Amino acid sequence: MTYAAPVKDMLFCMKELAVLEDVARIPGFEEAGLDTAQAVLEECAKFNESVVAPLNREGDKQPSFWKNGEVTTTPGFKDAFRQFGEGGWQGLQHPLDFGGQGLPKTIGAACIEMLNSANMSFALCPLLTDGAIEALLTAGTPEQQQAYIPKMISGEWTGTMNLTEPQAGSDLAMVRSRAEPQPDGSYKLFGTKIFITYGEHDMARNIVHLVLARVVGAPEGVKGISLFIVPKFKLAADGSVGERNDVHCVSIEHKLGIKASPTAVLQFGDHGGAVGELIGQENRGLEYMFIMMNAARYAVGMQGIAVAERSYQQAVAYARDRVQSRPVDGSVAGSAPIIHHPDVRRMLMTMRAYTEGCRAMAITAAAAFDAAHKHPDAEVRKQNQAFYEFMVPLVKGYSTEMSGEVTSLGVQVHGGMGFIEETGAAQHYRDAKILTIYEGTTAIQANDLVGRKTARDGGATARAIARQIEATEQALAARDSAAARALGKRLSAARAAFVEVVDFIVANGKANPNAAFAGSVPYLMLAGNLMAGWQLARALLVAEEQLADGQGDAAFLRAKVATARFYGDHLLSKAPATRDAIVEGADSVTALALDAF
Ligand SMILES: Cc1cc2nc3c(=O)[nH]c(=O)nc-3n(C[C@H](O)[C@H](O)[C@H](O)COP(=O)(O)OP(=O)(O)OC[C@H]3O[C@@H](n4cnc5c(N)ncnc54)[C@H](O)[C@@H]3O)c2cc1C
Repeated sequence: MTYAAPVKDMLFCMKELAVLEDVARIPGFEEAGLDTAQAVLEECAKFNESVVAPLNREGDKQPSFWKNGEVTTTPGFKDAFRQFGEGGWQGLQHPLDFGGQGLPKTIGAACIEMLNSANMSFALCPLLTDGAIEALLTAGTPEQQQAYIPKMISGEWTGTMNLTEPQAGSDLAMVRSRAEPQPDGSYKLFGTKIFITYGEHDMARNIVHLVLARVVGAPEGVKGISLFIVPKFKLAADGSVGERNDVHCVSIEHKLGIKASPTAVLQFGDHGGAVGELIGQENRGLEYMFIMMNAARYAVGMQGIAVAERSYQQAVAYARDRVQSRPVDGSVAGSAPIIHHPDVRRMLMTMRAYTEGCRAMAITAAAAFDAAHKHPDAEVRKQNQAFYEFMVPLVKGYSTEMSGEVTSLGVQVHGGMGFIEETGAAQHYRDAKILTIYEGTTAIQANDLVGRKTARDGGATARAIARQIEATEQALAARDSAAARALGKRLSAARAAFVEVVDFIVANGKANPNAAFAGSVPYLMLAGNLMAGWQLARALLVAEEQLADGQGDAAFLRAKVATARFYGDHLLSKAPATRDAIVEGADSVTALALDAF
């Protein structure tokens, strides 16, 4: 088997950290208790391990290709996608009214991780479709929702997100695609979109493009952007697939990784205009797109965790198998499997601790999303919304940056064979690189964290989270165990470093923005490190308790304690140095004059 879903760890995160029992008390989620979670995860694991994962390597070797405007995906993808739709996996988190299963994000997030561990290139199609469904649920009319959402949930049609243009990447204010209003209330769209994931493919009958464009005469900048639905095939009167629309794929990109995922250049309106429908109101497109982007940003964070998990599993298997050198402690007489060497153990522990820490952080954030959306108490909704919004750039930014480090270690564990394509370790490394770029680069996530999530409320949300962390520190300090004490000390130092950085960002945000933003990515990394470490500290507390009571799987719980302790010693311990770089090193970032580069 090339991938075994970490169902036990996922259920542990849901039950003990995200407190699924509380999520299942929220009206609408009554069916989503632990039994449901276990059944869904086991079924999901089976599907991904046996159907999707075996296609991962194939996709790298036989990427999607373009010919005469059409894209043929990797052999096997089309059939796997049919099974994905029929299995109901696209609708997991979407409303029952549209054919979905209405499950909370707390459970859905784990399924997204599995799909992406199995095959990131394949998973991108459902990921973008989820975003399109989300945007229509938020801003579409009941007619639009009825026309498009059930077909996307069933897997008959898929969705895309069309933001990027050659001159408009991070800066969407520069979008130039044009929409001309028509007498019948529709619009005709003209322009070029680049880098559109699954912008053309052969896995579904229709593709629902959500497109950012400017209505003729709209204001400049972000306030003049509207959102449109432009289906590849226009809808016939009965809602089925009708005539071909004027949107065409003129090429797809040749990429470093995720080669099976077609990244399309789409040309709108070269033959008279692509027919589109407005979503919501004119000029509010970016606002709606942000809803879709937030869902997608979280999901991209899960992609980071997913590829890190896959890379870790492969590295462990190789380290058990590859025999090289005598262990320094003499525990084996001759050459031994490399897993005996302390440095290989350090690499594997780093990979494991990062992955488990980020998973714990992401699943906890998912529970906050569920409460923010459906909890009956408005105050609880508000608090959870603030927490979730703070976490989105961390789940996206930190988990994807860590996936770069983890997959690089995955190559390193393999030695020379890691650099050779046939082991597959290099594919994870190449695939992971896109994650820090699309859906907003790490810098864009960090700008969001500094501006909207920290400076705007004067650091209030950040400090409220720090107070919750202090409670965990106290619980650790009260424990009579070396692991808890050691982790408590690291957590405390990291939390103090975080609070100092928050104060620095708030103080400098307006007065000295270059100083505040010079440390934006390091601040994101410090905050992500702290949040992941905090969740592992909570995990350690639970694991020790269960071990003392003789409950649960002792080997799993002991490994959790060891991994959390490692996280504290080796990863959380970096937080104070990051604080120094941000607070004391801000000026040196911009000291060199532009013409000196
Ligand atoms: C494989 C792939 C799939 C994609 N899929 C889609 C898709 O489905 N739909 C879609 O619309 N787009 C998609 N994209 C586009 C992607 O979202 C953009 O590439 C990304 O947002 C970055 O924009 P850019 O490439 O223009 O880089 P730029 O914006 O030119 O950024 C270049 C560098 O400048 C930095 N930078 C820019 N602005 C700032 C700032 N304000 N502060 C600090 N640093 C800054 C960036 O962090 C980066 O390091 C995809 C891209 C790729 C490669």
